[in-house]
Amino acid sequence: MKLRLLDYGSLQADLGWTMEAAGVSTHSEKAPPSPRRDFQMIGALLEHPKHGVILYEAGPAPNWADLWPQPVKEVFGINRYSDENRLDNLLKKAGYDVKDVAAIILGHMHLDHAGGLEFFRGLDVPVYAHEEEIKYSFYAIATKQDFGAYLPHYIDSAFNWKPVYGQEVELFEGITLYNTSGHTPGTLSMKVDLNNNESFLFTSDTMFFKENFFDGQPTGWLTRDMGAWWKSLSRLKRIEERYNCNVVLGHDGDIFKTYADKGILGG
Ligand SMILES: [Zn+2]
Repeated sequence: MKLRLLDYGSLQADLGWTMEAAGVSTHSEKAPPSPRRDFQMIGALLEHPKHGVILYEAGPAPNWADLWPQPVKEVFGINRYSDENRLDNLLKKAGYDVKDVAAIILGHMHLDHAGGLEFFRGLDVPVYAHEEEIKYSFYAIATKQDFGAYLPHYIDSAFNWKPVYGQEVELFEGITLYNTSGHTPGTLSMKVDLNNNESFLFTSDTMFFKENFFDGQPTGWLTRDMGAWWKSLSRLKRIEERYNCNVVLGHDGDIFKTYADKGILGG
């Protein structure tokens, strides 16, 4: 199996969303500045010897500017997205058409990871997401309790949803999915084993940045279940060590660049 990383552009937001107590006021510093950071939006294109082209994460919708509510654009504003970050163009650059994609795996179903399903509307491609994530995202939209993180333009029964059940599933040979909740109820981390015996571990937004995964710095306001997050951290660490994985985190631009610059991995 071969792998390449896809650059879906970036957004910028307050660091407090992803890092507990970033910019918090203190007794001696009553009004510190609020640190902000670029959030690289990351996808992965897998070429599987038996199953063909498989995508992990779909990025934002190409017309996100029309689809994202204004408050979302204010808080999580996309600051880099051009034609070269469109999923159809990224596939073209890799020698494929959107119709060549045999399966899509969603790390979770937030708007910056699943909005790009719009490229596949009407194509009936199987879209794999965790059972709990599919249930929660439709509920979040229907009740408006988590509207904005999820959007109705793609939380749509028109897509060919395929639930992934349980804690660990080898979906295709060499592609193992783990339910690592915390950020959302059904976040799916993914381990891929490449031709050259290298393994990659994608955490989606269970871990946003290096500090979360390597320093054990808890995630911030975007955490939905802190107890689950600590368990997921422990589990991901064990997987990383057991299989000696290269780790790609949900929005870490430095790690992304390290592997994206290498081009085709495992080739
Ligand atoms: Zn995200």
